[in-house]
Amino acid sequence: MLSSLRGFKDVLSDEALKWQWVETVTHEVFSAFGFSPIQVPLLEDVRLFHASVGATSDIVEKQMYAFDDLDGKRIGLRPEATASVMRAYIEHNLHTGPVPTKLYYSGPMFRHERPQAGRLRQFHQMGAEVIGVLKPHHDVELLSLLAYLFERLTIRGIVLQINSIGCPVCRPLYRNELLAFLQGYLSKLCENCRRRSRENPLRVLDCKEASCRGIASASPSPLDHLCAECAHHFRAVQEGLSRLNIPFLIQPRLVRGLDYYTKTVFEATSEHLGAQSAVAAGGRYDGLAEALGGAPTPALGFAIGMERLMALLDPTQVPERPLQLFLIPLGSAASKMLSPILYALRKRGMRCEMGDEEASLKSQMKRGDRLSAQYVLIVGNAEIEAGVAQIRNMQNKVQQGCALTDLTNNLLAVLNA
Ligand code: ATP
Ligand code: MG
Repeated sequence: MLSSLRGFKDVLSDEALKWQWVETVTHEVFSAFGFSPIQVPLLEDVRLFHASVGATSDIVEKQMYAFDDLDGKRIGLRPEATASVMRAYIEHNLHTGPVPTKLYYSGPMFRHERPQAGRLRQFHQMGAEVIGVLKPHHDVELLSLLAYLFERLTIRGIVLQINSIGCPVCRPLYRNELLAFLQGYLSKLCENCRRRSRENPLRVLDCKEASCRGIASASPSPLDHLCAECAHHFRAVQEGLSRLNIPFLIQPRLVRGLDYYTKTVFEATSEHLGAQSAVAAGGRYDGLAEALGGAPTPALGFAIGMERLMALLDPTQVPERPLQLFLIPLGSAASKMLSPILYALRKRGMRCEMGDEEASLKSQMKRGDRLSAQYVLIVGNAEIEAGVAQIRNMQNKVQQGCALTDLTNNLLAVLNA
């Protein structure tokens, strides 16, 4: 028997319906904040991810699904979408449009990680990118969008952690200091971090190993090394958030596992998620456009992990759309009469279903019950002769007559009452 791959998951109806609701709400929120949708491919030239996420990042080095296609071209399944959005921005000259370019996307990402709770190999992200602007109030706007999304989805207990990791002016000084600090702990770092400390010491701060976390917590913070511009920017972000009454926590050692970030970085975490506590993450990436061969273009964005978001969702908050009416035809004459009614009601947006004309009343009633129908309508030869069908309210069990002439409108009146 074949089954799905490890780390790849089916989302079945009930869960998929919750996803749909989340997506509907998010589309509304993104639109209110002035974002337009963008769709980018699942496959890209791997060089895009080398140049953006970073050739020595864990994501590219260890987690990317990269392979040669039938033409011998090296391609990769996207591990994230910011690189693709920026590639599209440059490729299609989107800078010629209104500034900033505010885009959002949603879709699957692929990383060959060790599957565990909160960690899949195909997972989904919904993300936003704001391209072409440098000022701190854009960081605040993006963070306020994120905060409002959680509010709209009534997800409580989210902590917004923010930090600044500086820019190419101040980061080298910090990097050297961190490097010097880590030299003293090389033997205590995990194997990965010993390598990371040579290639990109900031990544040590993102390591999930307990021993490395202990060392990281005593390490110097980028906040103590920010240049005047980065310090001003970070202060302005905090002030802006406070003005909007958006609570945040400064986490002085927060960094991101991707190469392209500068200045503001952030994570939205929840203690209800266990070890994989981040539900969303993002920051500024002012150097990314240049790294991809475009003109220098400041930008920022975030990505929400949909599976983790779904895990935090309170199912009672998701509006249900019950089956409004189950039509029960007893025999073929009834079925022939009801099928245009079913079609007409559906066209009016009613959620309706019809039973099998050959099944008994009892078994059709049972099916209506299993579908949690609010009403059932029963039509057999006797009802056709009398010109009146029976409609039954399944909650209070009250049954009443319903004239067959102009049946669609009669039913609409009952259902909308
Ligand atoms: P983590 O620290 O959990 O590994 P990350 O730093 O790799 O996350 P990003 O690349 O910033 O995460 O992605 C943003 C969000 O996408 C994360 O906060 C998380 O919610 C989600 N995410 C990332 N990787 C996975 C995965 N393998 N499975 C499920 N969700 C994921
Ligand atoms: Mg990760």
